[in-house]
Amino acid sequence: MTPLAQGMGFLPTRNFQESVFEASSNFSGENLKDNYVQRNKGCFNCPVSCSRYCSVQEGPYAGTKGEGPEYESISAFGSKCGNSDLEAVLHANMLCNRLGLDTISTGNVLAWAMECVDKGVFSARDLGLDGLGFGNHQAMIQAIHRIAARQDGGDILAQGAWRAARILGGQDLVVHSKGLDYPAVDVRGTKGMAMAFAVSPRGGDHLKGLCLLEVAPDVYAHILKSELGIEPGDKYWLKYETKAGLMAWQEDWHCVVDSLGLCKLEGIALKPVLPAHFHRLLSTATGWSGDVQDLRRAGERIWNLERMFNCREGLGRKDDYPPKRLMQEPVKNGPSRGERLDRDKYEALLTQYYSLRGWDLDTGVPTPATRSRLGLS
Ligand code: SF4
Repeated sequence: MTPLAQGMGFLPTRNFQESVFEASSNFSGENLKDNYVQRNKGCFNCPVSCSRYCSVQEGPYAGTKGEGPEYESISAFGSKCGNSDLEAVLHANMLCNRLGLDTISTGNVLAWAMECVDKGVFSARDLGLDGLGFGNHQAMIQAIHRIAARQDGGDILAQGAWRAARILGGQDLVVHSKGLDYPAVDVRGTKGMAMAFAVSPRGGDHLKGLCLLEVAPDVYAHILKSELGIEPGDKYWLKYETKAGLMAWQEDWHCVVDSLGLCKLEGIALKPVLPAHFHRLLSTATGWSGDVQDLRRAGERIWNLERMFNCREGLGRKDDYPPKRLMQEPVKNGPSRGERLDRDKYEALLTQYYSLRGWDLDTGVPTPATRSRLGLS
């Protein structure tokens, strides 16, 4: 995945300041497999077994062992923190797994703090984390220990970047939606996922918003055509057109997959299984008599119910925007150079998505007609 993200220019680097990383080749699947992977690992009975068990035999991180890292963790402790040392990434990943920390948010809060140090918002010494800065993997590892123990500045960083910034400053440098850090996609180069992460009920969440159909349209061309009637054309990921319908389709089916107890990686993300297959599995196992569209409607109902929960808590259209950096700062280099989220085009996309969803265009609240149609009155 890292070479794909690098090649297409969406690999978040140094807290999303850039979208390609000069040392990304260190993080290739080949390097990981040839030098660190001990065996494949998977969930019970899964034919895919997408995980791996790694160990480090030599050097300062000798003794590191455990499951992972997968793409998100590699980006979190690699490119996002400007760190080129894969063994440090493996160690950080192991620490987070053992200490009960989420690798994405831990990597993001550290990357944010590194940029704040770089820009003089506060100093590493202020946090009691000497040396914290882009590329310093020793300081990164030390900070993970401090976060887990809630010692020194680690006590503030443990609250996550969004809350830490309210205490320390640097709010404009936090890359989040609804307070949740963005995963390893610089969405300036993927316009559909830009909206998907922003409208997601949990904020910047790859389990809701990840859409491989957008970034690998050649691989999934037959699905785009058969399920949605979309002809992706050149550089589909940079286009705004057709993304409202694609993201709504993806969100509905994500909800279905979650509810069926299936995995998104073997199901809706990697696409060996299509909606018609989900339907056949469900009806065969349970005798359920609805059709494929009824099944999608169940996903749509879940999506709307989550939306209604958020609206009741005061969220709405104002909360459905990507962070300031991604709207205002063009990508500096790489294949996505010059890309940012154009305000007018984003507004138009969001309005189109609301229309399609049946949500009020100003507030983003599901309309009475939509609620009635879905049995949520
Ligand atoms: S594809 Fe899904 S179910 Fe299978 S091993 Fe990976 S995460 Fe587990």
